[in-house]
Amino acid sequence: MSNIQEAPPRKSIVYHIPYVEEGRFIPLLKRLLRENWYNLYGSGDFVAVKLHFGEKGVTTHIKPHWVKEILSVWADKRVKFFLTDTVTLYHGARMDAVMYLNLIREHGFDTIGVPIIIADGLRGDEGVDIEINGQFYSYVNIATGIVKSDAMLVLTHFTGHELTGFGATIKNLGMGCSTRRGKLSMHSTLAPRVVLDRCKACGICARWCSVGAITVTEHAIIDEQKCSGCAACIAVCPEGAIRTNWNESSANAQRKIAEYALGAVKGKPVLYVTFLLNITKLCDCFPSDKIEGLDRGVLVSEDPVALDMASYELVDYEATMRKLRPEIDPLIQVRHAAEIGLGSMDYELITLGDVRKSGY
Ligand code: SF4
Ligand code: SF4
Repeated sequence: MSNIQEAPPRKSIVYHIPYVEEGRFIPLLKRLLRENWYNLYGSGDFVAVKLHFGEKGVTTHIKPHWVKEILSVWADKRVKFFLTDTVTLYHGARMDAVMYLNLIREHGFDTIGVPIIIADGLRGDEGVDIEINGQFYSYVNIATGIVKSDAMLVLTHFTGHELTGFGATIKNLGMGCSTRRGKLSMHSTLAPRVVLDRCKACGICARWCSVGAITVTEHAIIDEQKCSGCAACIAVCPEGAIRTNWNESSANAQRKIAEYALGAVKGKPVLYVTFLLNITKLCDCFPSDKIEGLDRGVLVSEDPVALDMASYELVDYEATMRKLRPEIDPLIQVRHAAEIGLGSMDYELITLGDVRKSGY
């Protein structure tokens, strides 16, 4: 028997900049990024800057000037940054690329001076199947703009979430980088349903259904056996008469999200910045109240699993947020992500400002 002891697995490093005031967090963040990740992105690289720009009426999303400051770290390199997100599964102001780009302009992101590209195309159906061999999925359908990027910078606003307890980096990757097909699959195990009293029998949905699953007589009827789950009909119905069956359990949705997250970052360098600021009861898809007293600052890591675990612990989720949705265990997404190899729940937190430990 060998006497050689196996070295303990290395913990993932998570840097923490406590929020004191913005004037302090921006310079520290820029210095941290420059000293550790300036060389992560090369001249000529297409780098997808993935973020949620906020639904109409939301004001607590990531601020455009934070993004501009962050990108200035690489200003002297010819990195091809582009800001990106995908369209929503539900009807709303982000349901197609044109509507979303108009809203993004309203929210001030056009002032950054970086191109903005909706990663899953005009109608949310431009994706590539990425092999992951997960528990739920052998392949996940990731937005083309994400797949074709050389690297990513993932900016995440930590929030409460009605399905997953909290929504953070894993959620930003998994749900946020998927096509509408992927979003439907993570939220539902059934074909979409028709709201009969809304349907005007116009036939548009049937023309868009590529597998002939919809027939229209007095109203549209979806054949569940034929439906391939592409979600196109939800998007094209002008009356909003085709809806998602939101029937997937929180536990399974969280595991599916983790598997999509694995596919989103497969094979490329990724840096993650998570903002524990303006934390709201619901995610940035809904205007909702900020939870006071929870501003914990900014986290940076190369490990999305460690980041979400650190976020959960820094906001003291069990004491401060669990009561919003006591029935949901939000760590299911984190544990599953660790099990499938997205990252590690074991992390070392280095708090900047503690000069002895961090050097800052
Ligand atoms: S597109 Fe909408 S309104 Fe038109 S037939 Fe289909 S469900 Fe009915
Ligand atoms: S989800 Fe796609 S395949 Fe299913 S009925 Fe709608 S358009 Fe057809």
